[in-house]
Order: sequence, then C-alpha cells, then structure tokens
Amino acid sequence: MDQEVPERLTMYSCRICGNTQIDTFLRLGPTPLANSFLKPEQLRQPEPCYPLDVVFCDHCGLVQLDLVVAPEIMFRDYIYVSSTSQTMPQHFAAYAEEIVARFLESPQDLVLEMGSNDGCLLRAFQKLRARALGIEPAANLALAANAAGLATVNDFFCERSARALREREGPAKVVIGNNVLAHIGDLCDLVAGLDALLCPDGVAVFEVPYLLDLLGNDEFDTIYHEHLSYFALRPLQRLFALRGMQIFDAKRLIVHGGSVRVYVCRVGAGRAVRSSVTGLLLLEKAERLDSFEVYTAFANRVKKMKMELTALLRELKSSGARIAGYGAPAKGNTLLNHFEIGTDLLDFIVDRNPCKQGMYTPGRHIPVVPVERLLEKQPDYLLLLAWNFADEILEQQKEYSKRGGKFVVPIPQPKILESDIHARSVASLQR
Ligand code: ZN
Repeated sequence: MDQEVPERLTMYSCRICGNTQIDTFLRLGPTPLANSFLKPEQLRQPEPCYPLDVVFCDHCGLVQLDLVVAPEIMFRDYIYVSSTSQTMPQHFAAYAEEIVARFLESPQDLVLEMGSNDGCLLRAFQKLRARALGIEPAANLALAANAAGLATVNDFFCERSARALREREGPAKVVIGNNVLAHIGDLCDLVAGLDALLCPDGVAVFEVPYLLDLLGNDEFDTIYHEHLSYFALRPLQRLFALRGMQIFDAKRLIVHGGSVRVYVCRVGAGRAVRSSVTGLLLLEKAERLDSFEVYTAFANRVKKMKMELTALLRELKSSGARIAGYGAPAKGNTLLNHFEIGTDLLDFIVDRNPCKQGMYTPGRHIPVVPVERLLEKQPDYLLLLAWNFADEILEQQKEYSKRGGKFVVPIPQPKILESDIHARSVASLQR
C-alpha cells in the first residue's frame, strides 16, 4: 500500500495550542457541506464545494480540519434533529438522571446546555424537574424547542453570550455540551465562556465522538466540514487547562460510533481526578495517538475500503441487483462523495426524517424518500449509511429482510448481512 506523503501547512495554526507545524494525513477532496440536501429545483444550480482535509498537531495531539466554513453558512438551518432517532432519547434520559443525581443540589441549580438542538436533553431534565436552559445557534431548532416549552436562547455559545446568560440567569451549576465541541472553530472562546458562566464548584460535561473509536473502527465518514476537531483526552486536557480547569472523570459510550464523555471542573474545586481519566490517557499513549504514522495508516485503510466497497456494489449491480441506501445522515454524504457512489449504484435512499424526504443528497444527488417506500420497491440490497443505528434499523426492517432483502454494511469492513446470525454480529459495530 502506498504511504501518503505528508505535507506541511504553514498558513494554519492548531485551534488549541496555536502550533503552526501541522501535517495533513487525509484528503477527502472538494466536498459539498454534508447537511446541504438539495431541493429538486436546486439540482441544476452550481453547488458550493470546500476542501475536506484532515491534519494532526504533534504538539497537543488534536486532529482537526484545516479549513473552517463560516458557521453562519453551516448551522443557521441545521437539519439534524436528534429526536428522529429512537436510540438518542433513551441515551439522553439516562444522561439527565446521572447529572441530576451527581451534581445538582437544589431545584434552583441551573443546567445550561449548549447546542441543545430540538431540546431532546432539555426535555429529559424537565421531566426530572431540573431548571434547564438551552442555547442553540440554529434558528429553526431553537424556535421548535421554545414552541415545545423547552426554554432555548437562539445564539452560539461563546464568551459574549455566556456573559449575557450569567447576567440574566446567574451562574450555572452544570454546563453541558453534547456533540458540540467538534463543531466549534474558536475553542478558546468557548472555554472562556465556560469560565464566565460556571459557578466555582460547577461541573461541565462534554460528549464528543472519541478519536480512539474513529481510528479503531475506521469511521472516516464521520469526517465532514461541520466536524472541525476529532478529540482524544490529551488535547482536551490541554484545552481546559487554558482556563484553569481539568478533566476529573471520563466515560466511554457507544453512541455515534463510539464517544467519550468528559467531566470538567475548576482546578482546586475539591474533586479528585479519577482513574478513568489516567486510564484513558495511558490507553491513548499505548495506541500511539501521538504518532503521525497512526494517521497515515488510517488514511491507507480508507483507500482500501473505497476499493472494496465500490467493487462489491458494482458486482451486485452488474448481476442485476437493485440497491438502495438506508439513512441519509451527514456522514453518509462523506462516504457517498468520497467513494463516488451515485445513482449509478443506488436507486434511492430511505430516511425517517421528514425534512430530508423529497430532497437530494449533496454532491451525488441521490433522491431521499420515506422509509415506507422500502417495501413498495423492495430493493435487493440496502447500503446501511446510518450504520451507527444498525441494531435499530435491522429491528425495524424485519419485514424487508423476511421478503429476501439484504443489508450491506460499509464500515469498517464492507460486508453483506444475509441472516439473523449475521445480523447479530453487526450489533458489535454499534459500539
Ligand atoms: Zn495543537
């Protein structure tokens, strides 16, 4: 296998430590934004594309994109709505219960969630009678949350908005950022906002997709413009230290293909750093996350996956099979665009999210239709683009399987699932 030739970028500096000596290890090429689904009338218009290159900072260990598309372009009308998945509300209910039990003392304690989306987690706090407030940059989602009785400020979380919140609501006992950090261009500003809002003994809790899982399962499709950073504990530690804070607890989770939840407090707040933190730091060292070679090896595996999956789909197609896609998540578009899988291979994609139905995927222009169409059309194979919800999808689509439909899992190793025995083995993919 060819080794990627690393290139030095001198125009860019690391968004945590400011280091300017950064190496590119993966180039996914000019790509449209993963959530910019197209209406039929937009298909003939030119589609904006931006480079999608991933770099590694060998000072602090942060894996990041070297290009930031203006957040106003990416997040004003964000189409991902967390409540459309059945798995996430359960995840959020358990999350809220833990936070309330561990860190809240009185019903007056404020819980602030940044990037609160449609209010899925806020609702879980509301059910537990906690005082929860959201701050969400996407106007459509903030509006929907408020209409559902889940108090949400329509703004980005930063030092400015955090100061305004503190003025109005008082300090927060708990600040939560669920899949937020990866979207933030100015991480130092976010941590300054945290410093401004959090009370002295407050706790911040962040969930991020974990770099160890991304590399371990070759989840390259989770790389898209909205995800500016790919975190391990070591660079996060460095980030929070900028404002005198530390990670005192950490927990690996199965959501989003493998995430890590970190618990942060001010240094000197009287919380001991748990062995969960030191254990993960040791594991990251053992997995050589500080070494550039680990990343070039990953890039080479992505190349191999592209060859294997496209060869498999072409073979099925040339044998007369009809293939469709299941799920139109943002990551599906990274996979389709980078692997150059279009309507020559996939007839259509089904998705449960009504916002995406009737639209076309960015770049490859594959039509997205309601899930009900699956049994009408009964394609022979379904490419599982939303592979992180594989269990849920296989459970829901028993009728499709009963009628002879088969699933193709793209990641980490392209393969066809034909029976229940195989179906059970895919459960391990959802870690
Ligand atoms: Zn750095």
